[in-house]
Amino acid sequence: MNRVIAIDGPAGAGKSTVAKILARRLGLRYLDTGAMYRAVALLATRAGLQPEDGAEAARLAEQAEITFGHGDPQPVLVNGEDITSLIRTPEISELASALSAHSALRQVLVARQKELIQTGDWILEGRDTTTVVAPHATVKVFLTASLEERAKRRSLELGREDVSELTRMISERDHRDYTREDSPLTMSPDAHRLETFGLSAEEVANRIAALLP
Ligand code: C5P
Repeated sequence: MNRVIAIDGPAGAGKSTVAKILARRLGLRYLDTGAMYRAVALLATRAGLQPEDGAEAARLAEQAEITFGHGDPQPVLVNGEDITSLIRTPEISELASALSAHSALRQVLVARQKELIQTGDWILEGRDTTTVVAPHATVKVFLTASLEERAKRRSLELGREDVSELTRMISERDHRDYTREDSPLTMSPDAHRLETFGLSAEEVANRIAALLP
């Protein structure tokens, strides 16, 4: 059986940073599932779609080829175009979060993600990875941190000083992620809960590595 580590948790809990450290250290391929929702959000913006246009967004996703390159940040390509920096704006975060509530879109992306992780050893991160995409992962982790802590980290990451605005945006995304009907953000009962307050990303990675059989 191939080795799969799934990292779940709310926005800003540190999933990406930790997943990248572990991918490098353990020689795993890294799947950023959120980047796929972001890629679709970018296509949706270009096509003039609204947050409620789930069926159209699913169609765009079906037709799009979303691929990943190597490097840090990991290049994200859609139909061969490098969109890595275009999908990290707050506007795309918002739209990705809104579109991700639509089952039609989730079905398309989850099917792709499931297919991908059958092809080797992977670390994947995202809000439904321990429950829906990889329920049988070798190790499942749910990262947590307070809203304030997560907003602070985002502000450092993005180099923005408007922490209160970031707090509001993360809190809104939390609400949407936790309350959506299809695959709400929940902790799988067999996932390891890891509170990251006061821990560096390296320390979090060490704790996850220690869970591997
Ligand atoms: O993780 P990231 O912030 O890049 O994800 C962007 C948005 O995509 C999230 O706000 C979330 O609503 C959605 N998402 C999701 N399921 C995933 C990954 C991301 O619904 N597995």
